Amino acid sequence: MPTPVLYTQGVCKSFGDHVALAPLDAEVQTGRIVGLLGPNGAGKTTLLRMVTGITKPDRGELRMWGQPHHRDLLTRMGYLPEERGLYKSMRVAEQVLYFATLRGMARPDAERELKGWFERLEVEGWWNREVADLSKGMAQKIQFIATVLHRPELLILDEPFSGLDPINAGLVRNEMLRLVKDHGTTLLLSTHDMGSVEALCDEVILLHKGQKVLAGATDAVREDARKGRIRVAVRGNLMAFVAELGARAELLSKSTRDGAATAAEAIHDLELSLPEGWGMPEFLSWAVQHVQVLEAVPLRLSMEEVFVQTVESATP
Ligand code: ATP
Repeated sequence: MPTPVLYTQGVCKSFGDHVALAPLDAEVQTGRIVGLLGPNGAGKTTLLRMVTGITKPDRGELRMWGQPHHRDLLTRMGYLPEERGLYKSMRVAEQVLYFATLRGMARPDAERELKGWFERLEVEGWWNREVADLSKGMAQKIQFIATVLHRPELLILDEPFSGLDPINAGLVRNEMLRLVKDHGTTLLLSTHDMGSVEALCDEVILLHKGQKVLAGATDAVREDARKGRIRVAVRGNLMAFVAELGARAELLSKSTRDGAATAAEAIHDLELSLPEGWGMPEFLSWAVQHVQVLEAVPLRLSMEEVFVQTVESATP
């Protein structure tokens, strides 16, 4: 296994009596986009602040690129914190270039890179504007550029889409994907925007009340959360079919389409939960003996549904 960018074992943090993060084991590999999800107060920012060295874990082991945290690693990271921090009285380009030089970039390189970023994020006209004149979304784009300009290997982004309209959010999303594809950048992304999680994240870690309640590849997590649920459209006598179904599978919902002349011709849309060991092929070969199956698809849960389902079932 290659050395992970981030490795934590038993890392935890409390503030007084309050456990902000219970002992957490996690790994983030190079070039992955990992979504850090969770309800408000779940512990996401607490973890990100430990990864960026702003706070220290109370206990546990935290390694970055195989090493214990130390100051020199900071230039390899870019952190977009939840609370935004641009100096209002400075001009836009001047400010971003200032941050880049603080992170060890030579000024001519930073200027060249910045021009590219201004073009890609469509902010060419803002080079000499004052930060105070920027709208929330504009300031967000500039702060994103300030975070990525020095080409960090690990990008840590706390709510990077807040304040962005769908077009600008799309621009920023595409740039994130480009960084991963062209430079092998690793992204740790905390967001409540589940659409972006579906579009971007290879993996997710879901925290709830400081505990890791779900983790894994995004597709696998969505498939697991389905819990055997399928959607089928069948033609035939529903009462007879449900009687045959008996305890074989659970009928979660049913609706009958209008327009059938007889019960036998009626089309029904059903949601079923298949028990373990009874997959789609087994169900279909059984069902066709009783009804005409017009359509059968595994239920695909959105990340939002996975989030709500997981948090609700983890809440006593
Ligand atoms: P959100 O989605 O609302 O940003 P979050 O998942 O980022 O939430 P954290 O900011 O990590 O949550 O907070 C986790 C818990 O720790 C919260 O209950 C918060 O009040 C508490 N907390 C965080 N920082 C401190 C601090 N410096 N002092 C005291 N309590 C804190």
